[in-house]
Amino acid sequence: MLHLSVLASGSSGNCALVETASTRVLVDAGLSARKIAQKLEIIGVSPNSLHGILLTHEHSDHAQGIGVWARRHGTPIFANSLTAEALKEESKGVQWRIFTTGSDFDLGDLRIQSFSVPHDAAEPVGFVLQHNGSGVGFLTDLGYATRMALERVRTVHTLLIEANHDEAMLHNDTRRPWAIKQRILSRHGHLSNNAAAQLLAEILGGSLRRVLLGHLSEDCNTPALALQTVRERLALGGGEAVEVLCAAPGDAPSRLLVG
Ligand SMILES: [Zn+2]
Ligand SMILES: [Zn+2]
Repeated sequence: MLHLSVLASGSSGNCALVETASTRVLVDAGLSARKIAQKLEIIGVSPNSLHGILLTHEHSDHAQGIGVWARRHGTPIFANSLTAEALKEESKGVQWRIFTTGSDFDLGDLRIQSFSVPHDAAEPVGFVLQHNGSGVGFLTDLGYATRMALERVRTVHTLLIEANHDEAMLHNDTRRPWAIKQRILSRHGHLSNNAAAQLLAEILGGSLRRVLLGHLSEDCNTPALALQTVRERLALGGGEAVEVLCAAPGDAPSRLLVG
């Protein structure tokens, strides 16, 4: 049994809980420790029952909660060395568990795989968490899909993937300066709806059963647009049976059975 609960997803914070019968881990902690505890409470999870927090990278929308959380609850934080190094200032009291990107390890009865992704951070990674033949993947904050990322997520049944922006909405946005738009669109930025749809189309025919679209921009995307773009692209490739959901910011967390 494998459960996924998205506690938050988007530029104001990313945090998800993966649970087996005996292991609970967070992927990212990009909310305040208090907010994370509140969200866990909604689904009946005690903050002191976590076995670890896995970090994809050091950006504050993924890591801002770790210092206070670790001091309050003592949860070990799993990160690669450059990510941990980048968080040195705000991570007093953190029990680091350093992993090498690309080498698998076990956390309770979860098998954790990490792989590099192109993004403007020190050593950003995506994750695949496997349990009893089921896998859930995390692929947020990447400028484009590398062959390695595609190979890794091809094995999962459920994938949380970034659908950050609609290209036209980003282009027409008057509040973002040109330099920011360039950063988002760059090969070390974020995946658009179209890029996410294309990536998903490329892994059709593998194990994929369910997709959660996440990290949606609040100004340059809408859940309806992201869902439509991805569903249409998957249907073109014969992937109508893949369930596509949106992890919209602000939604109350709910537990999804993913394996
Ligand atoms: Zn992010
Ligand atoms: Zn980031």
